[in-house]
Amino acid sequence: MHSSKIETFRQISRILLQRFFFIAMPFILLCWAGLELSYRNQYKSVIFDIEKKQESVVRLSALQLRTIIESVNNDLNIIRNSDEFTTFLASPDSLTRNEISQMFARFLRSKPSFSQLRYIETSGREVIRVNRSREGIDIVAPENLQMKSDRYYVKSMQTLKPGDLYISDFDLNREDGEYTIPYEITVRFGIPVFNSTGNAGFLLVNYDGLKLLQILTEFEVSESSRISMGLLSSKRILSFSNQGSREDLTESFFYHQDEQVDELLLRISSPGNDMNRFNLEDIHYYYSGIEFSGAFHTIFDKAAGNWYLISSYDSNRVKAESDQFFIRNKWLITVILLIISLTLFIIIFLYSLKESEHFYLVATGYVSDFSHDGIIITDHKMRLIYCNRVFESTFGVRFDEVKGKKPHEFLQGQSRIKLSETDNGTNIWEGNVWDMTSSGVYLQKFLRIKTVSTTHKGVQYYIGIYSEPRTILGYQNRGGNDIDSSYLSQDTLDFLSPDLDGKYRHEANRLVMILRINNISDIVSLLSESEESSFIETLSENFQSVLSSDGLVIAPRSGMFLLSDVLENPPMVDVLMEKIDLILSSSRFLYNGRVSVEYVSGLAYSPEHGKTAYELINNAYIALDALSRMKRVKYLVYNQSIFEQVKMVRHIKDEIDTAFADGEFSVVYQIQNDVITRTPIGVEALVRWNSSRLGHVSPAVFVPIMEEDLQIKRLGKHILKMVLEECEAIMEMVPEHFKISINLSSQEFNDKQLVRELVHMVQESRVVSEKICFEITETILSENLNHTSFTINYLHSNRISVAIDDFGTGYSSLSYLKHLRSDKLKIDRAFIKDFPENDDGTIIKAISDLAHQMGVRVIVEGVETEAQLNYLRSLHCEEFQGYLESRPVNIRELRKQLEEKL
Ligand code: C2E
Ligand code: MG
Ligand code: MG
Repeated sequence: MHSSKIETFRQISRILLQRFFFIAMPFILLCWAGLELSYRNQYKSVIFDIEKKQESVVRLSALQLRTIIESVNNDLNIIRNSDEFTTFLASPDSLTRNEISQMFARFLRSKPSFSQLRYIETSGREVIRVNRSREGIDIVAPENLQMKSDRYYVKSMQTLKPGDLYISDFDLNREDGEYTIPYEITVRFGIPVFNSTGNAGFLLVNYDGLKLLQILTEFEVSESSRISMGLLSSKRILSFSNQGSREDLTESFFYHQDEQVDELLLRISSPGNDMNRFNLEDIHYYYSGIEFSGAFHTIFDKAAGNWYLISSYDSNRVKAESDQFFIRNKWLITVILLIISLTLFIIIFLYSLKESEHFYLVATGYVSDFSHDGIIITDHKMRLIYCNRVFESTFGVRFDEVKGKKPHEFLQGQSRIKLSETDNGTNIWEGNVWDMTSSGVYLQKFLRIKTVSTTHKGVQYYIGIYSEPRTILGYQNRGGNDIDSSYLSQDTLDFLSPDLDGKYRHEANRLVMILRINNISDIVSLLSESEESSFIETLSENFQSVLSSDGLVIAPRSGMFLLSDVLENPPMVDVLMEKIDLILSSSRFLYNGRVSVEYVSGLAYSPEHGKTAYELINNAYIALDALSRMKRVKYLVYNQSIFEQVKMVRHIKDEIDTAFADGEFSVVYQIQNDVITRTPIGVEALVRWNSSRLGHVSPAVFVPIMEEDLQIKRLGKHILKMVLEECEAIMEMVPEHFKISINLSSQEFNDKQLVRELVHMVQESRVVSEKICFEITETILSENLNHTSFTINYLHSNRISVAIDDFGTGYSSLSYLKHLRSDKLKIDRAFIKDFPENDDGTIIKAISDLAHQMGVRVIVEGVETEAQLNYLRSLHCEEFQGYLESRPVNIRELRKQLEEKL
């Protein structure tokens, strides 16, 4: 038991792990990959967004910057081309200068970004200067004008040509090389001024640098602070910051003079950088130069170089922001994934568990497709989960149609089995039942229902096995009477018929019922004489009350009733029987509850079961008699198959005594061979009956009939005696491990006393016990495990071997096989007979593998072809038996065969 549990556990764990790895793991990985992918996509789309914004911000800033520069250029040109300025250039005196100064002041007033406007001579001498101060606009007095020839911008401007626009570096207030605080960022724009003699000087405007830099802050994407904007010149990155206050801008302006500029310029000027994009480590840049449409020529001061608008974002920071959800919810996601895996694991576990049970049941059921019996498996609620092919063809149903239904829903039999009765310790209910096929024919079957329960869960499955009726219908042995004409004794018929004969001729739906109270003698013993007659009378009256006006009740004998009525239609039988049953079961309330009626009744109705009263009574009686040998069935309607069976059984039973007396039984032997060497290593003894009246009768027919009357025990001893006597003659010639197999039916095997007698017979004979093997059928295994195991052990202790015959044809409880130490497994002919044409041999392989795993030898019966033998060889089966080697032969023939082959 223990090892099988471990085995099952191992199997389930293996299936479980396999499933988990092949189904659940990929699913979890897929979930995980999905999350990862969506995260990556999200990150990608964020980056895409940022880059788009970067581009537009840079482009717009560049456009704005260009517009400013163009407008400054315009303004300067307006001044230069003004009448006042032309007049001044022609005759520069204090008057004209004063007028220009006034004009400069007006100009400055209207342009808040201009902090200073000057006219400087080529030599560098300031001619006119107008300043913007805190107080207002100042025209600088001539005595305060300075010489600026040493300034870099003056030097640069001396080379300007007509149409040029000079743009200086961003300049800080510097006094003697020191920055003065507050810094004032200034950019100078200048154009050359020519007179008739040539280059006369330049118009120069100081532009408020911070106003320029506001372009940068204006477009900076401040809401997420992801993008920084800057203006890059050859020395500086201006305002790579995103805080918009004036002070900060000044600060950032000041502090951003660093080496990074060189690296950025290098990347900008490096070839292959057409996309205006590059990155330095994690910082991603986008830049754009400022282009002019050619109306004027911009000259950037050498110190400033070209200007670029440049933006950057830190991919690390963006990643960190996108990661945030995942990082923040890392635990949550892990927990969710864990819960998913756990749930999957549990679902798969439960499913595997359930399926492995199903697997075992259905696997055995599958084997049962080769069974001679109809097999069904239902769940604990009795809903069908499996039926084999035999069941399907017997009852004319298809599994697909009846799956999930309860058997009584599609088998409208007369038997109402209460399955609670199965649990009286044995877990087996058995009895003869009548069930209706889909075409409406009643079939009698011997039904055994096994309950499969677990220790804690109670009933889990019911396994129903429909075999041929064990208790073949009985009959009354009345000597040479011809059963065809009359079943009842003439006396009975004479007794009943005066009231009836002639009455029912050709009347439709006339029902005759014979009802017998089985325990009438017990009841009578409890009652006084007057009580007895009133009991019968009351019952008769009650019966009468449920019949129609055509009804009739006769009580010919104590405990025997004959009821007759005309039914509207045959199915009304059920209704009537329910009423009758109610009357009889309520009779236990009579006589202080002392009476409990047990009864059976046989029924027949016209015209199907007879046209005359004689025929109907006769057949109702046949049904009653058949019924009395069944368990738990209360009433039975006659049908033709009952009659056929009764007739056959009767013929056989009548002949059995003669057969024993006249020595009509004989034994034949069929050799069993080694699969590899093909030498005989045993024989099976098979009974033969050549009846003087019935001819050859097959043991498959008469053995079950003999079982009914326990005649089989007599036969068993008879056969063994013959075998032991006959085989004495071959004992010297057979090899050491040679076995003589003898079939034992379940009746024989289950009778401890008989088994002891048989063993004794062997011991008394000249054949040593080691040479004897008893073959028992597989069905015995499912009957009583303890008893079977006990008997097998008993045989073993007497050195007799045991083989399991017809393996695979019953409910093959493979698990039982493990616990019983049988020596040999005989695989039924059904599993080899269609090989290789209609069967690929998978099942025979599965069974033989299983047997080998359990250390049991395998013999295959019914081997007829070389191909079959070769296949068995490949499966390492040990033995075979069949027409290929020999048919069963008598002892003389056997001797000859052995002489030849050994
Ligand atoms: P079984 O014990 O399974 O016997 C094997 C049956 O298969 C025998 O049928 C045998 O003649 C038949 N057989 C053997 N080789 C081949 C083959 O290659 N092809 C075919 N088609 N059939 C083959 P048999 O003798 O008619 O016996 C039928 C059954 O009657 C036996 O089945 C056994 O269950 C029972 N039986 C026979 N003798 C006895 C006996 O002495 N006592 C009891 N209790 N039962 C017996
Ligand atoms: Mg056998
Ligand atoms: Mg067999």
